[in-house]
Amino acid sequence: MEDTSAWSGPKSLLQSETLYQYILDTTVYPREPDCLKELRNVTANSPWYYMAVPPDEALFLSILLKLMNAKNTMEIGVFTGYSLLNTALAIPDDGKILAIDIDREAYEIGLPVIEKAGMARKIDFREGSALTILDQLLNEEKYKGLFDFVFVDADKDNYLNYHKRAIELVRVGGVIAYDNSLYSGLVVAPPGEPLYRGDTIDRDAIVELNKVLAADPRIEVCQLSIADGLSLCRRLY
Ligand code: SAM
Ligand code: CA
Repeated sequence: MEDTSAWSGPKSLLQSETLYQYILDTTVYPREPDCLKELRNVTANSPWYYMAVPPDEALFLSILLKLMNAKNTMEIGVFTGYSLLNTALAIPDDGKILAIDIDREAYEIGLPVIEKAGMARKIDFREGSALTILDQLLNEEKYKGLFDFVFVDADKDNYLNYHKRAIELVRVGGVIAYDNSLYSGLVVAPPGEPLYRGDTIDRDAIVELNKVLAADPRIEVCQLSIADGLSLCRRLY
């Protein structure tokens, strides 16, 4: 049935649930690796299950990582590790992911699945505030320009702070991807639309981020309407 509501929820901005289901059933679920399926099911038991990227976005990111031959990657915001495992599967055997989250407990929910899939060896999990950890990395010359790909999916009101740091950590030609960059469509919510306070703060932060990214000469940026919006920024210099 057609979903005609103005804001289509966190999973997909597509206005037709039937069409979204068609995409999942036709090209996503049939070849989703068993371990990702398992981690998706494990995550579904969490009250915050909706925080994981949807599987169609995971598939897109997987193909992008392979097209880029990405080897050194970073993930800011891990949760139970669905997007992390997806990245681990997409990068080569000697690929590495520096994964940051303040919540180790959530990561430990998914860790047994990641270990069983043989992917834990690619992951360097750092528990703590992403800003603190990024600043620590920037103090070491070896991390500057090291990363082929940085996936940003943590606290939205810090995205601009992450951008200031990630731009120095990603290599020239590498990509920083900002997730939820259309924020359930709320970036164009009419003035006066009643929102939860947290949503207002995050929405305003995302609107500001999109403005800054569009004007940042160091990157070229592409706003995708997949899932909840995904902004791809390619570092130019
Ligand atoms: N990328 C994950 C996935 O697709 O499965 C989902 C990540 S979830 C949307 C956001 C995560 O960011 C949460 O696990 C939360 O603990 C983490 N987070 C929030 N604020 C943070 C901060 N300041 N520093 C580090 N991690 C943070
Ligand atoms: Ca997200």
